[in-house]
Amino acid sequence: MRLKHKPIMEMFDTSVTVFGAPGRYIQGQNAWRLVGDCAATLGSSAVLVIDGAIRDMLAGQVEESCKAAGVALETLSFSGELGRTTGQDLQTRMTSPVSIVIAAGGGRAIDAGKALAERIGGGLITLPTVASNDAPTSKNFVLYDDAHRLLEVRHLMRNPDFVIVDTTILSMAPKALFLAGLGDAVAKKFEADACFRSGGGTMFLASSTRLAHSIAETCYDTLVRHGAAAWSVVGTGAVTEDFEASVEAMILMAGLGFESGGLSLPHALTRGIPLLPGGGEVLHGIQVAWALIIHFETLGIEPPPELVRLYDAVGLPLSLRAMGLSQPSHSDLLALADATLAVRHAKNMPFEVDAEMLVNAILRVEEKAVARSVEA
Ligand SMILES: [Zn+2]
Repeated sequence: MRLKHKPIMEMFDTSVTVFGAPGRYIQGQNAWRLVGDCAATLGSSAVLVIDGAIRDMLAGQVEESCKAAGVALETLSFSGELGRTTGQDLQTRMTSPVSIVIAAGGGRAIDAGKALAERIGGGLITLPTVASNDAPTSKNFVLYDDAHRLLEVRHLMRNPDFVIVDTTILSMAPKALFLAGLGDAVAKKFEADACFRSGGGTMFLASSTRLAHSIAETCYDTLVRHGAAAWSVVGTGAVTEDFEASVEAMILMAGLGFESGGLSLPHALTRGIPLLPGGGEVLHGIQVAWALIIHFETLGIEPPPELVRLYDAVGLPLSLRAMGLSQPSHSDLLALADATLAVRHAKNMPFEVDAEMLVNAILRVEEKAVARSVEA
């Protein structure tokens, strides 16, 4: 595949600020019915890449909506690992060329759709069915190897044209996935902060805008206020105001906040955590939640009390043990530290972090968690 222009990650540097966003963000109950009309603004033929597990639940509705809007639709199920050949494999399965990709499902199916969109160009619509991450809003997608180790983060030239967030569908998704989305989103303010203060590059390798910074802050404030109440109704099908607010924070604000505001140590740690025994099985957002606690410890500050209250209320992990991992060996921790510090975001800190500082921070956080459980 040859690009006629520079790849996006070679276009900017920190001498400019860059803000990216999807063309339209649409959220509400039964929002799925808008898919066809949105697609029709982009072209007349689309491919739906949908998580195989939810095909029966949703594909018929998307087909109906596209048909009513005069958009021809082919449907491809996606399941399994998201690897370097995913985009190509999906393209091979298509029976005719299209100008729009509609990606529906959780993080993996959305990213599979992005991988296909990268190959065929044209329009992109994301239709998340769980609020487990902010992939629907962002231009990034991640590829993994067979052992679910992160291989590569890739970047589309633009964010999706439409992000259609149906809160009726999301309200029925598993609680554990919502919790992961919450964990991923609460870190964004502190990561954007660290990136801003260190003058580091965002996901555009540019400087952060003030706007992205305040979006990350509003994301945090919204989740502190509404997150626990939203979590308590997830899975019941109830769409409350707390739930709508939290979904907007987790998908829209978290996505804009990290992409244009930048990441820092917590997301860098997600490269290291899979090297701990059992670490690769922990959901990304749960990893980020724990990594945020390590971020505070590395900076020498305590996590804000309202954040600890939220963690306690919903069951986000304040320790490795709470994340379901056993006490790692010193060499496991060193491997984690090396993998973490090799990530670009790890430099987005007010001072340089080394492996010893990181390992010590992890050990101190474990000790504090033990002391806390004894007190309780
Ligand atoms: Zn994340």
